[in-house]
Amino acid sequence: MNHWVPKSAILAGVVSGEAARALCGQIFVPSSHGGGSAADVAASVCPLCESVYDGLLP
Ligand SMILES: [Zn+2]
Repeated sequence: MNHWVPKSAILAGVVSGEAARALCGQIFVPSSHGGGSAADVAASVCPLCESVYDGLLP
């Protein structure tokens, strides 16, 4: 399952190995092979993250 994470946080996580915080509050380490990428919409997305993300849209 993927979580929505700000792209800058994903990049920082991939480069430095630092954990990123998803929109739902879940802390995890993004990987360079697609796991945790907000752009990977084909995979199932955390429903909590999705609802938060929808709420951020204008
Ligand atoms: Zn999530």
